[in-house]
Amino acid sequence: MKNISVIGAGTMGNGIAHVFAMNGFDVKLIDVSEKALDKALKTIDRNLDRMIAKEKMSEQDKKVTLAHISTHTDLIKAVQDSDMVVEAATENIDLKLKIFKQLDENTSDDCILASNTSSISITKIGAVTSKPEKVIGMHFMNPVPVMKLVEIINGYSTSKATTDQVVDLSKQLGKVPVQVNDYPGFIANRILMPMINEAVYSLYEGVAEVEAIDTIMKLGMAHPMGPLQLADFIGLDVCLAILNVLYEGFGNTKYAPCPLLINMVTAGKLGRKSGEGFYDYSHGGKDLMVSKSFK
Ligand code: NAD
Repeated sequence: MKNISVIGAGTMGNGIAHVFAMNGFDVKLIDVSEKALDKALKTIDRNLDRMIAKEKMSEQDKKVTLAHISTHTDLIKAVQDSDMVVEAATENIDLKLKIFKQLDENTSDDCILASNTSSISITKIGAVTSKPEKVIGMHFMNPVPVMKLVEIINGYSTSKATTDQVVDLSKQLGKVPVQVNDYPGFIANRILMPMINEAVYSLYEGVAEVEAIDTIMKLGMAHPMGPLQLADFIGLDVCLAILNVLYEGFGNTKYAPCPLLINMVTAGKLGRKSGEGFYDYSHGGKDLMVSKSFK
């Protein structure tokens, strides 16, 4: 494999392009928005500088890495000679199904089609293509250049040959691939999101304050971040959407999102990206909103 297309140049897409390019692959970074592509290139540049400062890379390596990345807005034209496509566009099922139909029609039979989706069924995505055996989940973690894990999701029809190739490829990127089957939330979010939801319920029921809940999980369980701070980091809207996928996918009330989480998302308090969630980020840092009542 040599030619990789990455669709979507947002938070995840720029990181995915960064790691492929750094490991010698030619990367076409594709987005509908020129602005997103410009921003992604700036982010990659800054993150490569960070690696130089940490002596993990030389100035020359940075130049070579950047030379491996080109940007495109015409998906159909860009993907035609790809050996593999990694889709990291907005988490929206209709959008992803449309993209995979286009990929099916405009890539070679050998081309592997991967999605970085956090929660959408790989089997469902594969079913809109004529080659579901080539469709697989490649769930990178945020921030991509730093996090070692790639959760590899085998759809119902994904072939062993495709999985083996993607496992090898992940290792070439310096990542640790772990295989799972395609059921709601896969593994990472199936386990993480109920924990976050339980933390929100504990707050909602008045069992403890924000800082107490996070401190207990940090110091007691050696988690680097408490669940409420982590929820703010991920985005409360994203957490709610994934919980709804688990709730609907399994039809089990144990995944029902906490009413406080629903209220906060409805009120536009989405965590770090909106400036306020369980913590206040309006002053730049993480200021605990001690006086706020969460009921
Ligand atoms: P994002 O909103 O930061 O970026 C999405 C990008 O997709 C945007 O730049 C948008 O312009 C582009 N896009 C939309 N429609 C497109 C199209 N038709 N063609 C090309 N580009 C298009 O989103 P993100 O956080 O990077 O998430 C991307 C994917 O990665 C989602 O499936 C998400 O579930 C998954 N994911 C996100 C995280 C995370 O922490 N953010 C972690 C793991 C997986």
